Amino acid sequence: MSGRQLLFFDLDDTLLDHRGAEEEAQRETFARFASLFLGVSFEAWLSAYREVNGGLWLAYGRGEVDRETLHRRRFTDPLANLGLDASRGGEMGAFYLERYRDAWRLNEGAEEALAQASGLGTVGVLSNGFRDLQRAKLERFDLGRWVEHVVLSEEVGSMKPAREIFDAAVRTSLGPGGSNGTGVRKVYVGDSFETDVVGARRAGWLPVFYNPRRERLAFPALFVTRLADLGPILS
Ligand SMILES: [Mg+2]
Repeated sequence: MSGRQLLFFDLDDTLLDHRGAEEEAQRETFARFASLFLGVSFEAWLSAYREVNGGLWLAYGRGEVDRETLHRRRFTDPLANLGLDASRGGEMGAFYLERYRDAWRLNEGAEEALAQASGLGTVGVLSNGFRDLQRAKLERFDLGRWVEHVVLSEEVGSMKPAREIFDAAVRTSLGPGGSNGTGVRKVYVGDSFETDVVGARRAGWLPVFYNPRRERLAFPALFVTRLADLGPILS
């Protein structure tokens, strides 16, 4: 296998429309618990949730909170911040997770990009995020048709942008007897500039920024605005 290029993808908001699923599930949660949200708009709730959730994910990455705490506090904290009753935050979080699972969709061009990549190299998924959810996403869309290696932060014990998780992907792909990845072309496609592009570059991979919203780049990097445009970069 050594010598065959590694073509790895981020999962949330690269292959899968996580933000869309998050918003849809939050909309259903907001409707289900409407009596608790009196006087607060859905937009205000979603933005309060996203801000707290983002901060908790960083704390989780630093090992300061565990997953149960994250699942609970990403509801109780924004409820409390908005002056609302936080006592049913746990129940809300469980309802949300159910709805979130039902709202998963692949991004346009994801299957085609994976199919093409599998003809050009060894395909993997490298993702931060909870193991059970990420594994369930791969299973739901049968991504194992193309994906040979799945590298998850919860299993590796480090999160992007840390180099360790990219190194783990190299070891997993090339095997214990394989090279350390030097001389092997390693491409990583992801939608977060800070996490994916910066992390991959520091680890010696070629980052490709998936940038459908055409965000400004902090420094020059390869990017595509549609997954369908990955072809020439992967080959
Ligand atoms: Mg992502």
